[in-house]
Amino acid sequence: MAQHFLLSSKAKTLTLAHVFRMTDTEAEAMFRQVRWPSTDGAPVCPECGGLDAYECRRHTGALRFRCKACKADFTVTSGTLFASHKMPLKAYLAAIAIFCNEVKGKSMLALSRDLGLSYKTAFVLCHKMREAMAEEMRGRVVGGEGKVAETDGGYFGGYVKPANHREDRKDRRFSRNQNGKRQCVVIVRERNGNSVPAVFKSEGSALSWIKSHVAKETILNADEAPSWNDLHARFEMRRINHQESYSEGETCTNWAESYFSRLRRAEVGIHHHVAGPYLLRYAQEASWREDNRRVDNGNQVRRVTTLALGHKPSVDFSGYWQRHITSQA
Ligand SMILES: [Zn+2]
Repeated sequence: MAQHFLLSSKAKTLTLAHVFRMTDTEAEAMFRQVRWPSTDGAPVCPECGGLDAYECRRHTGALRFRCKACKADFTVTSGTLFASHKMPLKAYLAAIAIFCNEVKGKSMLALSRDLGLSYKTAFVLCHKMREAMAEEMRGRVVGGEGKVAETDGGYFGGYVKPANHREDRKDRRFSRNQNGKRQCVVIVRERNGNSVPAVFKSEGSALSWIKSHVAKETILNADEAPSWNDLHARFEMRRINHQESYSEGETCTNWAESYFSRLRRAEVGIHHHVAGPYLLRYAQEASWREDNRRVDNGNQVRRVTTLALGHKPSVDFSGYWQRHITSQA
């Protein structure tokens, strides 16, 4: 049997030990390269685009530049997802490496213990990394001529604890006994390709989103749930009845099931609660991890860093603690 990718040496190209052995200058150089690749790491003013800036460190020694043209002060993260960064750059790199190494997700409490951060800092940092990952799937359409894709839905959140005494318990299958917080993650995933998730009230309300994120010529696989019936008008559909079998030849939703397996394990084993306004971000994180599962960890870290530094300041968190998230991407 072929060796599992994560056991092979190809999967391991960056260690945390390597990150911690880096000097501050080396970490700065790496961030500068990722932020300003066109000038080979030389600073570009985010205010006026000027190329003439000089180093003007803070009294703490933290790297900062001053633009000769417009006199603006800026850092290597100004105008990016990591804007107004408080920790040393090396700590960001370590956090990204730790985050990427956990294939099902990283507990934010554990990250705060790993790096000596407050829980809030670890929470915001992890959500910014999720936001960076989500940037990669913005506007993505899967499938196409001769391509096969799968779709499926999974329900998260809205847990209602059963009452202690049997006579007080209610049948939680009825919507009147639910709390209305349950949401449905719907995934579209191309076989041997990429995926995109989104969050809805139910599978049935995802249909127009599916139509706009799967190319029309795609052969689309789905299970027997009647919510998918309307998709036949748009796609060549293959349906698999899970009551009878999990696959019939090429007809199956196993790629979509693998995605939910990862997200469900993140919910049950790591975060314990992926719901409410942040559910979409967890869903996007699982999608990114699933699509990049054969990418070595060094390149994963580079990808996330590049996405974060190429992304405008956070839409979810703008430098302060707020329980607010924008609607679906
Ligand atoms: Zn300037």
